[in-house]
Amino acid sequence: MASFEYNGNPSRVIFGSGTLSTLAAELARLKVHTPLFLSTPEQQGSILELAKSLGAAADHVFSEATMHTPIHITEKALGVVNAFGVDSFVSLGGGSTIGLGKALSVRTGKPHICIPTTYAGSEMTPILGETVDGLKTTRRDLAILPTTVIYDIDLTLTLPAMMSATSGVNAIAHSVEALYAANKNPIVSVLALEGIRSLARSLPALVSLPSDIDARKDALYGAWLCGFCLGSVDMALHHKLCHTLGGSFNLPHAETHTIVLPHALAYNAPAIPEAMRKLAEVLPDSDGDAIKGLNLLLERLGVKRALKDFGLKEEDVAKAAEIALSKPYPNPRPLEKASIQELIRRAWAGDNAR
Ligand code: NAD
Repeated sequence: MASFEYNGNPSRVIFGSGTLSTLAAELARLKVHTPLFLSTPEQQGSILELAKSLGAAADHVFSEATMHTPIHITEKALGVVNAFGVDSFVSLGGGSTIGLGKALSVRTGKPHICIPTTYAGSEMTPILGETVDGLKTTRRDLAILPTTVIYDIDLTLTLPAMMSATSGVNAIAHSVEALYAANKNPIVSVLALEGIRSLARSLPALVSLPSDIDARKDALYGAWLCGFCLGSVDMALHHKLCHTLGGSFNLPHAETHTIVLPHALAYNAPAIPEAMRKLAEVLPDSDGDAIKGLNLLLERLGVKRALKDFGLKEEDVAKAAEIALSKPYPNPRPLEKASIQELIRRAWAGDNAR
């Protein structure tokens, strides 16, 4: 085994079914009394209900969380924080709401309890991406890491089948890149493989029966592990491409990850034989071929496979390649512009990965 460095992120996790009921005790444990409850407009009903159950007033709810954490929304929420003497944050939702909770918590130094309802994994990372005038910048700081994460399987039951599928593949992508990260280590790799295994077996079951509680449990557990991997080691080409496509071309987060993953993996495959072998072991029916196993999983999930279906134009392909390669970053296979452009073109067209 090669020498390695391991840095563990401090995190407190409560996992199970019905765990939302532990929120009051968790607030008391942290000695906070007046949280600001956060959600997207779509989950306003759930957050209002939660706030009411804890005796909080409706004006302690802020339901304007938006994808990519625009700073003007954070500033608006800070106005509420100052007006009501808020002492903590409770975010209930996916990466968009958790992003707002992180942005508020890191600016104020107040504790942040996360209640994730998708599989995106932001709750496990000390990473925050924020946008100003459409330009997204990302930073990493341990102060961004949420104070407590409450995973309640029951809250994922309402996540529609297709969103569950793409959000789950988004999670798998974190673990895939963790296997060949420049700073990979055996601890994170074990968790990455366990995360992929859990999601690869549960996602097809979820898509056919979204109320399958055992599959939901397996998927949320897998998503936790994959989020942990994202927060622990550096990501490479796949995440860079998705960051570019989401940030500069406004493509949807989870769907973009789902389409790009087999293409990015195929690009890196010649440079990562060991990771490909391990990956094939945890992807059902792969017959020793990780790309085959991944394609089969995506087929079973019935997800869309072409970026053009989400509005990317053919003339954007070259521009996306240029942006994705504009700053150097570690990747197992050297980044060649013509090949990266062809990779994006294939993802745009919905061609098979190779
Ligand atoms: P999202 O948070 O934007 O949620 C998508 C939609 O689904 C929203 O309308 C939301 O209200 C709704 N929703 C969420 N859970 C639901 C449920 N259980 N039932 C019904 N509806 C539900 O989507 P996402 O994919 O979770 O997050 C994407 C964002 O998170 C992006 O901005 C991405 O950059 C960020 N992200 C950040 C990190 C990080 O480490 N910083 C990691 C992953 C994602």
